[in-house]
Amino acid sequence: MSAEQPGKLIVITGPSGVGKGTLIKLLLQRHPQLRLSTSATTRLPRPGETDGVEYYFLNQQDFETAIANQELLEWAEYAGDYYGTPKAQVFQQLESGNSVLLEIELAGARAIAKIFPDAIRIFILPPSIAKLEQRIRTRGANSEESIANRLAIAQQEIAASDEFEFKIVNNDLEKAIASLETIIFRA
Ligand code: 5GP
Repeated sequence: MSAEQPGKLIVITGPSGVGKGTLIKLLLQRHPQLRLSTSATTRLPRPGETDGVEYYFLNQQDFETAIANQELLEWAEYAGDYYGTPKAQVFQQLESGNSVLLEIELAGARAIAKIFPDAIRIFILPPSIAKLEQRIRTRGANSEESIANRLAIAQQEIAASDEFEFKIVNNDLEKAIASLETIIFRA
C-alpha cells in the first residue's frame, strides 16, 4: 500500500557528545511514527552497544563492499572510521509515509542536502565547548587521543553550523525537545 504523502527526511547533526542520542531517543519514544535510520560503521562497539541496534558494525572490507555496491545513501570518514546510511531502509520508510531521522556528521549532512534538497536539516549545538568536553569525557570509552580528536572535529563542525536551516542549543533537554518537535511537525 503506498501512502498519499511520502515521509519527511530529517537530518540531525552536531558534535560528538552534544546529546543527539538522548534527544533522539526521547523524540522516538514520544512520536512512535518517526523512524531512526540505523547506520553502518567500522568503529568498534562501545560497552552495551549491540550490532543492528545502535549501528551495524562492519569490518573495513565489508564497508568498502557496501560503498562499491552503492548500498549507502551517504558515507563519511570520521575520527578514522567509516560511517554510512544504508539506502534501502530509508527509501522503504519514506515510501511508506514514515518520516526518517538521520543522525549523521557534517560531511554526510552536506551530501544529503545535495541528494534531498527538501530534507529538514537541524544542527544541535552544545551550551559551550567546556560542557561538550565534559560530556565526551563522562561518556568514557574514548582514549585521550580520541577525545582530543573529537573536540577538534567538534570545533570544525560548530564553525559550519550556519549552513543548517535550524540550530538548537542543547542546554535544557525539554526545551531542546520542544524545539525539535516544532521544527519537525510544523505544517
Ligand atoms: P559515534 O562514534 O559517536 O557513535 O559517532 C561519531 C559521529 O558519526 C557522530 O557525529 C554521528 O552523528 C556520526 N554518524 C553516525 N552515523 C553516521 C552515518 O551513517 N553517516 C555519517 N555521515 N555520519 C554518521
